[in-house]
Parts: sequence; structure tokens; C-alpha cells
Amino acid sequence: MPDATAATAHHAVTVHETPATRVLIGVGARQGVADEVVRLGAERVLLVSTPSADEAAGQIAAALGGRLAARFDRPAVHTPVAVTAEVMAGPGSGGVDAVIALGGGSAIGLGKAVAARTGIPQIAVPTTYSGSEVTPVLGETEDGVKTTRRDPALAPGTVVYDPELTLSMPAGLTRTSAMNALAHAVEALWAPDATAVSDALATEAVDGILTALPRVLAEPAAVPGRARLQSAAWLAGLCLAQTRMGLHHQLAHVLGGAFDLPHAELHTLLLAHVMAFDLPAAPAAAARLERVAGPDPVAVVGELARAHQGPTTLGALGVPRAELRGIAERVVARPYPNPRPLDVDSVAALLDAAW
Ligand code: NAD
Repeated sequence: MPDATAATAHHAVTVHETPATRVLIGVGARQGVADEVVRLGAERVLLVSTPSADEAAGQIAAALGGRLAARFDRPAVHTPVAVTAEVMAGPGSGGVDAVIALGGGSAIGLGKAVAARTGIPQIAVPTTYSGSEVTPVLGETEDGVKTTRRDPALAPGTVVYDPELTLSMPAGLTRTSAMNALAHAVEALWAPDATAVSDALATEAVDGILTALPRVLAEPAAVPGRARLQSAAWLAGLCLAQTRMGLHHQLAHVLGGAFDLPHAELHTLLLAHVMAFDLPAAPAAAARLERVAGPDPVAVVGELARAHQGPTTLGALGVPRAELRGIAERVVARPYPNPRPLDVDSVAALLDAAW
């Protein structure tokens, strides 16, 4: 019979937090962005956007009219502190009272970085599947060092999902960005702080991504498939927001930082290797994955990754093989939860398989 002592020893209490977010979702939702600004009572808005969403940025700027105070359209990956400083010192940026971030994780990271320094509200309008728009997490780089912080105040208060904004994603970015989202959901399934809510979100996210991604790749201009994939990525982002990530995200963080690698491609090529490594030690996660992916989830994910028309191995990304052991040492030295206990030899072997 379970007793209270046993419960205490197993840290039975989990804390589940959901940042409060207002979400607009649907075809044409981007046309509601200016109204959201009015709703916030903002008068001087900073609009940061990715060059790939130039047209939508122009429409939003026009709808803002006199409320648009400043624009910036060169967000950089991993949110360099110098870029944030440049934006904040730019013409019109003084005294802005809201920020709109239109783009992938890089644009949204910049919006968060501005909000972190000013406390102003954010409206995030994602154009990829990175999920950053719903997380209270910000990774910033300075002098080549990436630091990550987590604070509920970093999560954008308003998120606008318009599937039409994802139509322009080329096949490569569609695949790798969706695999990045898949990784959030997979690691949530074996997280030590998983709950019934995160399990439900993660399972539906995996199902949605594995169902919709092949359809979108086959028919990239069809909006219903894009909408399903975007919704699944939303759920996956919530998984990232609500649970602690394990080995997969640590590997991506350390490798990405050490060799300045493309974020989504790196996630794509690593995921099946980490699943093969961890799933035998995570039977509940494996059972859920098998329910939605069939008897061999590792094969399904590996096949999606290997079909990428771009680098599909660490070697092809330019990581020197001789450096893998050093990476394994750094990944094992960091404290974080993982279903399978980590040692340098086994992590180095995983990396070698991905090389
Ligand atoms: P990205 O934002 O860097 O965009 C990649 C490229 O794709 C850019 O050139 C961009 O202009 C282009 N692009 C974006 N949307 C497009 C579209 N719809 N059509 C055509 N081109 C488009 O890539 P990303 O993978 O979305 O984001 C990666 C960044 O986000 C990294 O810095 C990563 O660390 C961060 N991230 C943060 C979190 C978090 O919770 N804080 C989560 C995931 C990723």
C-alpha cells in the first residue's frame, strides 16, 4: 500500500504552469493584429519582422497607421544582445509601448528580448513551427556564449496564428521546423514533470505533426494541411513551455553553441537517435508514441529526418568527428533530467551514430 513517506521520497508533487495567453487562430488572423494593439491601449508600436514576411509586415504597418513608431527587419538567430541593443537605440524606438514580432523563432526571440528590457506587452505572429511564441523562455547570445532564461513575463501575451503565413516556407524549412516542434513534444512525454495535461498536448502534437507533415510536403500550398501542422506546433510549443527538456535539447544547445549550427536542421537530424537512446528507458512515452506512430516510432521519425534535402548528419553540418567526445563530456556534465542515465561513452556513441 502506498504511504506518505514513499510519496515524499518520490517528489510526488509536480508544478504545472500555463502562461496566460490570448490566441487568435485561423486564416486571415493577421488582419486582426492592429485591433489587438488597440485592445492593449498601445500608441507607439515597434514592429520586428523577418524579411520573408515582408508583405504581411507591410500590411500590418499600414493597418497600424500612426501607431507604428519603429520597424526592424533583420532579426538574427539566437538573439544576439548587440542586435537587441541596435533595435532599442534605433530611430523611433524610444518610448515604444508594445512590440509586434512577425516571423520565426528569431523574430519572436527579438520581441521577447525587447520586452525583457522594457516590460512592454508583446504580440507574436509566428511564421514557422518553432513554438517560441508560447514559451516563457529566451535564449540570447553575447560573445559567442548563449544564455537561456525562463520567466513567465517573457511569454507573449497575445499570439496570432494565421496558417497563410506559413505557406511561403520552403520544403526544407517546413520539414526541419516541424521536426523541431516534434522534438518538444517527444521530450515532454518523458519529462520528469510531465502531467496529464502535458501528456495530452504532446500526444496530440505528435499525432498532428506526423499526420500533417507528409501531407504538407506533398501539397505545400494547401491551407488545411498547413493549419493542422501549425496547430500541432502550437501544442508542441506548449509542451516546451510546461515541461523540462532532456538530452535532446541539451545536445542541440551544446552542439549549436559550439559550432554555430542551424537550429532546426540540428534538431531534425538528432531526434531519432535520441529516441532510440531514451525510449527503452521511458516505457510510458514509448507506449504513447506507438499509439500514434505505429510499432516503430524511431523508424518513422528517422525516415522523415533522412528525407531532408540538406545536411542530415553532424558530419555534413561540418562538426569535426574528433570533437564529439568533448561534446559528450559537456552534455553529461550538465545537470538535467533524462530517462536513461547518462555517461560519456554512451552519449559519444549516440553522437557518432548521428555523425
Ligand atoms: P528563424 O526564425 O531563424 O527563421 C529561419 C529562416 O527562415 C530565416 O531566414 C527566416 O527569414 C525564414 N523564414 C521564417 N518564416 C518563413 C516563412 N514563413 N517562409 C519563408 N521563410 C521563412 O528559424 P526558427 O527555426 O523559427 O527559429 C530558430 C530560433 O528560435 C533559434 O534562435 C532558436 O534558439 C529559437 N527558438 C526559441 C524557442 C524558445 O522557446 N525560446 C523555441 C524554439 C526556437
